[in-house]
Amino acid sequence: MARIVMKFGGTSVGDIDRIKNVARRVKAEVEAGNEVAVVVSAMSGETNKLVDFCRQIAPLHDAREYDAVVSTGEQVTIGLLALALQEAGVNARSWMGWQLPIRTDGAHSKARITTIETDTIIERMSQGQVAVVAGFQGLGPDNRVTTLGRGGSDTSAVALAAALKADICDIYTDVDGVYTTDPRIVSKARKLDKITYEEMLESASLGAKVLQVRSVEMAMKHNVRVQVRSSFSDAPGTLICDEDEIVEKELVSGIAYSRDEAKITLVKVADRPGVAASIFGPLTDANVNVDMIVQNVSHGGGATDLTFTVTKTDLERAVQVLTDAKETLGYQELVADSNVVKVSVIGVGMRSHAGVAQTMFQALSAKGINIQVISTSEIKVSVLIAEEYTELAIRALHTAYGMDAA
Ligand code: ADP
Ligand code: ASP
Ligand code: MG
Repeated sequence: MARIVMKFGGTSVGDIDRIKNVARRVKAEVEAGNEVAVVVSAMSGETNKLVDFCRQIAPLHDAREYDAVVSTGEQVTIGLLALALQEAGVNARSWMGWQLPIRTDGAHSKARITTIETDTIIERMSQGQVAVVAGFQGLGPDNRVTTLGRGGSDTSAVALAAALKADICDIYTDVDGVYTTDPRIVSKARKLDKITYEEMLESASLGAKVLQVRSVEMAMKHNVRVQVRSSFSDAPGTLICDEDEIVEKELVSGIAYSRDEAKITLVKVADRPGVAASIFGPLTDANVNVDMIVQNVSHGGGATDLTFTVTKTDLERAVQVLTDAKETLGYQELVADSNVVKVSVIGVGMRSHAGVAQTMFQALSAKGINIQVISTSEIKVSVLIAEEYTELAIRALHTAYGMDAA
């Protein structure tokens, strides 16, 4: 007997038949003698619709009321799944975040889980009752509903698995595992049997939306075994695990991309100490996250161009802040460009092997793709390129690193 957490994403609960399909899968685990807690997302498209309703009423909405609205999608699916389980003869009860409760900090719309009260559901699970828990939502210090950021049900599931000391957290989705890159873009992408926490964390933070970044952080911290698998097939999934559990390490394990990028260039900024601080200080104060940065060395004239990236959502705010401070910063011109994408290659093998970046630059140049900004860390290389080359670049890199499926 094992204790398992099963999480089903939006497409997996997208209509009534799919919810019945989920109930069948849960029932099979219960009949195999396991204790089961299920975490579900809203039906696909529902959260987008709710977010859009808020935007239509108030573009700069109050985050508490936004959470009150967007958390409701999950209330529908927990109730429907509990009903479907009961119809299938399985003892089940639904739980909203506040009912357990799942406590979070007060950062409405992007809250972090702090604690999960599990005594009641553990007792009921031991009596054979399935707990159907709403993903994405929690209870803030002000006793109001919070949400965990888009894709947050993954984090709810991993946090619940950690709190329940579950043997495994199965994330059921519309692909049958973690691939070398988004299988929707590269048909030759290969499914990985295993991937390290670290690589998954990099991939998720660099744009692979198969798991929310925080869910991977949480799994790594609490050593939760996470498996990504399909809710529509029985194919074995991908296990996220420690590096020493992987015998054959690949040099590069994957390629991720993010379209949520925008580039800002400040033309002719003075090249003297303190300038970077005076530019990035006000951006930090305005809660704008800066990611990639390049600055050229000035030649004689004492002025240089400074280029950096922010998320598309932050672009307007960043431009406003920098325009307001133009006098003090003393640059000549601000050029903003949101027609960009960040493409990254990831692999723990890079720590011990040279040449990974070079392969990337060559493959892109062979396709005539210009690299605008580069950034690297121990296990990844990222480049910023024009958005229209997204597919071309990812496919070329996938081939260049020998990752194409036969
Ligand atoms: P869910 O609704 O189940 O949470 P998501 O849409 O959030 O599902 O995540 C699954 C999607 O992630 C897939 O449909 C796929 O297009 C995308 N994806 C991006 N990168 C990868 C990758 N490396 N491996 C698998 N899927 C990926
Ligand atoms: N329903 C939420 C969203 O669409 C949470 C999730 O699906 O993980 O972002
Ligand atoms: Mg998701």
